[in-house]
Amino acid sequence: MKNTFDKEKQQESRTDPTDIYLEQKRQQNALREALRIAEEANRMKNLFFLNMSHDIRTPMNAIIGFATLLEQAASDEEQVRIYTRKILNSSKLLLSLINEVLDISLIESGKAVLNNSLIHIEALVNEMDSMIRPQTLARKQEFHIQIGELAHQYVTGDDIRITQILMNILNNAVKYTPEGGCIDFTVCGVPHSPEADKITFTVKDTGIGISREFIKNIFEPFSREQNKIVDKIQGTGLGMAITKSLVDLLDGEIIVDSEPGKGSTFTVIFYLRISEERAESGEAAGERHQSQKTAEENVAIAEAKPFKGIRILAAEDNELNAELLSKLLQMAGAECKIASNGLEAVNRFQEEPEDYDLILMDVRMPVMDGCEAARTIRNLACGKAKTIPIIALTANAFTEDTSMVLEAGMNAHLTKPVDTAKLYKTIREYV
Ligand code: ADP
Repeated sequence: MKNTFDKEKQQESRTDPTDIYLEQKRQQNALREALRIAEEANRMKNLFFLNMSHDIRTPMNAIIGFATLLEQAASDEEQVRIYTRKILNSSKLLLSLINEVLDISLIESGKAVLNNSLIHIEALVNEMDSMIRPQTLARKQEFHIQIGELAHQYVTGDDIRITQILMNILNNAVKYTPEGGCIDFTVCGVPHSPEADKITFTVKDTGIGISREFIKNIFEPFSREQNKIVDKIQGTGLGMAITKSLVDLLDGEIIVDSEPGKGSTFTVIFYLRISEERAESGEAAGERHQSQKTAEENVAIAEAKPFKGIRILAAEDNELNAELLSKLLQMAGAECKIASNGLEAVNRFQEEPEDYDLILMDVRMPVMDGCEAARTIRNLACGKAKTIPIIALTANAFTEDTSMVLEAGMNAHLTKPVDTAKLYKTIREYV
């Protein structure tokens, strides 16, 4: 009896060699697939860095080159103006590249947080009109806006991202449409469900168009159509990749239709919640209008010297940036003293707290960083240490950095490169 039982057990536990073989084969395939995916990701990463370093070098080359020419042409006013404009243009391209790469990395890391604001569709379209129209005028293009039927005027959604998506598409329409061409921007909204409307934005241009083959790759990072016209137009090839990621983030849809030589149509669809709130929207639109006005006010501020008599302590370890900062502050009438690291800023403030009305604080500095310096200042015994406005001025642009500086006791966070209008506006808020 015992014997029979053991035999049965043995037979039960013995697995069929075919099964073992199949299982090994399955595992091998899974490993091979994982390796392929890892290699592909690595290849894409390398390609990304290769493209990025190329795209950084191109405007850098122009900046260094024209700065060299500028140095030699210092006495020729006209040449100085031309070279300076070229340097500024290339610097802007470089900055947009950095911002775009940052955007991609934020979206891909899943850290992008959605804003939920009240959107007044007509105001949103008008805002875009005021940003794009000057460019279309400069290129002698016709720009038509048509606000079609809207089931509801007010919806909620991420207005910043929606603006960014539409601006990317509209900017391209302007860029890739020759002078004298035509751009149509339309919007309409129909009910999608009891809570949401389907809002469709369309941007139609009479530009150079996109080939059928390239449309398949248009959303790949760094992809630009290979032809003589596109080659002559400045661009990074990142705008559409970001646009697609943002549309996906917002659960929207984007459709590209184009005929080479005739023009392109970009359609973006969002499903946005209907909102009954109205009161705030006027304010929101007002705020946006204000931000555009600030740029124009910038020059006026510099002329009026509104910071006359204001004494600023600026902690900045980089000599060039320190010089630039003092010049910008002096331009607006402020007095500026530089500390070359956090500890020096603490010491200077501690020696004569009454000598300063505001502190600008770089974050990454040798000896003592900006956050530690701000914390140390806030803990000093004198009364002014608790109240003096401290504004962080850093090259870090991630949202976590903002919370880090606020936790350290600073009042606000500005990013480099310095946006002069923002710098003046923030200082004005605090002094
Ligand atoms: P870029 O910085 O090159 O403009 P994008 O990612 O915004 O990068 O666009 C990728 C490419 O798609 C462009 O280089 C261009 O070849 C093509 N493209 C985008 N929009 C248009 C358009 N409206 N008309 C023609 N080509 C376009």
